[in-house]
Amino acid sequence: MDHDPNCLFCKIDQGEIPSEKLYEDDKVFAIKDIHPAAPVHVLIIPHAHIPTLLDVADDQFDLVAHVFRVACKLAKEFGVAEQGFKVLHNVNEWGGQRVFHIHFHLLGGKKWGE
Ligand code: AMP
Ligand code: ZN
Repeated sequence: MDHDPNCLFCKIDQGEIPSEKLYEDDKVFAIKDIHPAAPVHVLIIPHAHIPTLLDVADDQFDLVAHVFRVACKLAKEFGVAEQGFKVLHNVNEWGGQRVFHIHFHLLGGKKWGE
């Protein structure tokens, strides 16, 4: 299914819920997380409605590589690349996934592990 009318991120992508797209191409778009866990907290979201990483088909994994390409580009643009950042992806309930349309968290601007 390409879009799910009941899905938050599909609604944002379709403009049914207003948001500022920080980046967009034919495969993904990026928005600021509404509850930022770091000074830079961007969600990189494929346009396709894929509920979880487990639903990515064998021939769709180039999409995941593309997300990491966009994460590097946005980390540079937001000035967090050199100091370091995280790309986080949650899968299913125990993995902390709350929105069942795959998305990747780009987190930067703070130092972890201290
Ligand atoms: P996850 O727990 O990995 O499914 O992440 C879902 C993320 O979506 C959380 O970090 C939320 O803060 C974020 N979120 C929920 N609603 C919105 C929204 N309307 N706009 C931007 N981010 C949102
Ligand atoms: Zn969706």
